[in-house]
Amino acid sequence: MSLELSLNLATVRMQWKLPQAVEAAARHGFSGVAPWREMVQETGITESARIFKANGMRVTGYCRGGLFGAGGRSNFQAAIDDNARMIDEAAAIEAEGIVVIGGGLAPGSRNLADARAMFVEGLAAVLPHARACRIPLALEPMHPMYAADRGCITTLREMLDIADTLGNDGLGIAIDTYHVWWDPQLRLQAARAGKRIIAHHICDWLVPTKHMLTDRGMMGDGVIDFPAIRQIVEAAGYHGIQEVEIFSDYWWGRPGDEVLATAVERFKRVCQEPG
Ligand code: ZN
Repeated sequence: MSLELSLNLATVRMQWKLPQAVEAAARHGFSGVAPWREMVQETGITESARIFKANGMRVTGYCRGGLFGAGGRSNFQAAIDDNARMIDEAAAIEAEGIVVIGGGLAPGSRNLADARAMFVEGLAAVLPHARACRIPLALEPMHPMYAADRGCITTLREMLDIADTLGNDGLGIAIDTYHVWWDPQLRLQAARAGKRIIAHHICDWLVPTKHMLTDRGMMGDGVIDFPAIRQIVEAAGYHGIQEVEIFSDYWWGRPGDEVLATAVERFKRVCQEPG
């Protein structure tokens, strides 16, 4: 029986290329995958789409778009064009959405306000194409430690304000436990997001965290209260699939089948809403 669990393919990107990773996900009972663009391009878009279908996999998200201001003003239009191409690719692989992050500061810049403004402007520019292709953009706020180099939009509140500004049509929200678990407004803002929540990513916060990007934890190994967050997300109106997404030097060093077996076991034991 397949689980209401999707595998973000970055979790096993050191062990497997896309075809093997998708087959392994199916073998372990996942019902979806979330591929990264590099992996899809390496395998080829048509072939990737065929593999997802052949393995009966939903494509719960395509990673990842946004980052409009990260290259500065001189590369702003190129970033918009690239996001538009990514929307076409998402449509070709029948992805249920694109994960969109803020992007960091432009090289040499200290202007965080400008990075945030370019994110909103870029999003506004690609939104008509996303709507026309019926590919929702899942806006993912990132933990504040990434504000400089990855995600200048750091809270759910801020992302929802942006979605409101742009009229919400074609936009959704991705709630990633790793990025939002600390937020004192999590319950309030998740309730505000309501049906706009279209993705729920899971991985744990380790104490201590040894690397900002590549020391994310397997569910149950850290301090995140997964049932509590699932309860918040379900109370807000999202009852859909969860997606395990772990960037970890430790887990990248383990056999892929061990990683997936552990993720499935932890999902069943640690990540369900109580009652
Ligand atoms: Zn995520």
